[in-house]
Amino acid sequence: MKREFAVIGLGRFGGSICRELSSEGMEVLAIDTEEDKVNEFKNIASHAVIADATDEKVLKELGIRNIDHVIVAIGDNIQASILTTLMLKELGIKKITVKAQNDYHEKVLNKIGADQVVHPERDMGKRIAHSIISNNILDH
Ligand code: ATP
Repeated sequence: MKREFAVIGLGRFGGSICRELSSEGMEVLAIDTEEDKVNEFKNIASHAVIADATDEKVLKELGIRNIDHVIVAIGDNIQASILTTLMLKELGIKKITVKAQNDYHEKVLNKIGADQVVHPERDMGKRIAHSIISNNILDH
């Protein structure tokens, strides 16, 4: 069954999620404030729109309420990321995944009810460190 996703913020991280979900046949609504980014995803995502996700009215107009899982991949603007997450939570989104910039950001996101908080650089660093250790064990 096709599932519906929305990706807010189409930087390297959000963009990569959007591409993968779309290539797996999922319905994806891609959102960014930058026209160039949105144009890049016009032929990849099911829908790509220029919008500011911190605007509650805009989120409602986009019908975000009907989406199963929203990924917030807003980069450096921690305030916008927190505000967007809070509004998605208030709108009753079932699953919210958010990219955290630092530990403080992560703590706030957990507190306001983000279902999954990811820290891609740190998480990937950990994963690679563990894979280096296991490969070393196998080599010896
Ligand atoms: P990376 O490219 O490594 O993923 P990043 O996570 O810091 O880095 P950015 O390149 O900063 O990501 O991308 C974040 C994206 O989020 C940008 O394309 C930016 O335009 C978008 N963005 C920022 N604020 C908003 C907002 N309020 N609503 C929608 N999109 C936003």
